[in-house]
Amino acid sequence: MIEAILFDLDGTLLDVDMDDFLDRYLLKLSTHLNYADPERFAKNIWASTGAMVKNTDPALTNEDAFLQHFFKWIEQPQNEVMQLITDFYQHVFPSLQADAGPFPHTQTAVNAARKLQCPLVLATNPIFPLAAIKHRLTWAGLAAEDFALITAYENMHFTKPNPQYYREIACKLNVNPHNCIMVGNDIMFDIQPAKEAGFKTYFVDETAGGFNQAESSGRLQDLVIYLDSINLSRVEEDGHASQQK
Ligand SMILES: [Mg+2]
Repeated sequence: MIEAILFDLDGTLLDVDMDDFLDRYLLKLSTHLNYADPERFAKNIWASTGAMVKNTDPALTNEDAFLQHFFKWIEQPQNEVMQLITDFYQHVFPSLQADAGPFPHTQTAVNAARKLQCPLVLATNPIFPLAAIKHRLTWAGLAAEDFALITAYENMHFTKPNPQYYREIACKLNVNPHNCIMVGNDIMFDIQPAKEAGFKTYFVDETAGGFNQAESSGRLQDLVIYLDSINLSRVEEDGHASQQK
């Protein structure tokens, strides 16, 4: 029985050039916050991101850990900056889509997962605000309603590649990791730590095949076949169970 299916976003469901996206994102954010030196801004943001990733205090959300560091170097008053950030994610962030979009089989893969009638989780690295993740989800042609849980920096206390991130998801859903599948395109961030936390793993590689450490792997269309076969055995088991009653 499968209790939950977790999907990474970037490179798994969303076809996006991350390096190019991050450059444009940080440049627009620095302009929006009236920060004079964009290069310095990017360096500082990465330092704050590093502080969030390295945070070991489980009482702090990722957002808390990020902002603690962020407000050490941002000079404007806190409430002014927070307002600008909210405004940025509402009005500026959507313009960063460029040619980011779904892979040809993104929707089919999510539909196949939905047939298993278990919660779906958008297990994207929770280093961004929920508002940003929701926009990027629409770029992949998906909706927030497709997922029982979207991991974001407001609701999580760990980041990838910490296995604790995956354990926190299982805990939130009250499921056994052994009965859940993590689908992702990154060995170090998705496959290894999820496996360490006890999850089944499916390595998606839309660009090239090759070495991987997941139990299963393939392109998104192979994932559809894999999920359909699990669904078929689930339906057959249900059939046997009801015959025995
Ligand atoms: Mg990815």
